[in-house]
Amino acid sequence: MDTRDRRDTRWEEVTPGVLRRRLPGWDETVGAVAGEDGVLLVDAGPTRAAAEEVAREVRDLLGLPVTRVVLTHAHFDHVLGAGAFPGAELYAAAGLSAHLADGGRAALAEDAVRHGGERGAAEADAAALPGEWREVRGGLTVSLGGARSVVLAALGPAHSPNDLVVLVPGGPSESPVPFVPSVPPVLFCGDLVEESGEPQAGPDAVPERWPAALGRLLALGGERARYVPGHGAVVDAAFVRAQRAALDRLANR
Ligand SMILES: [Zn+2]
Repeated sequence: MDTRDRRDTRWEEVTPGVLRRRLPGWDETVGAVAGEDGVLLVDAGPTRAAAEEVAREVRDLLGLPVTRVVLTHAHFDHVLGAGAFPGAELYAAAGLSAHLADGGRAALAEDAVRHGGERGAAEADAAALPGEWREVRGGLTVSLGGARSVVLAALGPAHSPNDLVVLVPGGPSESPVPFVPSVPPVLFCGDLVEESGEPQAGPDAVPERWPAALGRLLALGGERARYVPGHGAVVDAAFVRAQRAALDRLANR
């Protein structure tokens, strides 16, 4: 069978083995990084049903199950699908387990309902969220087997109290053709960067710390990285710099 027949056009290949999809509804990104024996998923989508669909698609596209899940931050549209992966290694920024234990589940479900989610599903998905997460302070390198590893970096508080980004380091060109450029790094930014609208500063945002977080993001990815926002199209370093400048003006208004 021609492999193109199986290609899901909803998924975009950012670099080889690194995919992302924008989910319908709230347009949040999920990312998939292929390791040697499993896939690391960046964010879990807004419902377990959506997450189960994502897992099926990822297995179809990459031939591997989801074995690791990283949450970029604890907003319902990125988190409530996480109960679909009870056997996976789970990573989040420090504070998530305590947040969930301290009323966070109910708050996530209410937020989903407020944004048009169905109450029964939202409450069940919130109840099904795993309670124990491997929490990241500063940075953590996670090996995905073989030559592939990712770096998780806690950059919050900024958009949320617990912002975490995922860097997939770049590498040499995989093409035998001379002069094909090397593979750029990929940075999954969560909602620290938004392309499809203005960056959303909700009640749990810390706007005055957001520009500095974007400075650290730019230092991590560098000039060549492809920056994958939480909402919208993949952008470059110049876009992130412009967003940092806009947030800086807002914070100092
Ligand atoms: Zn968010």
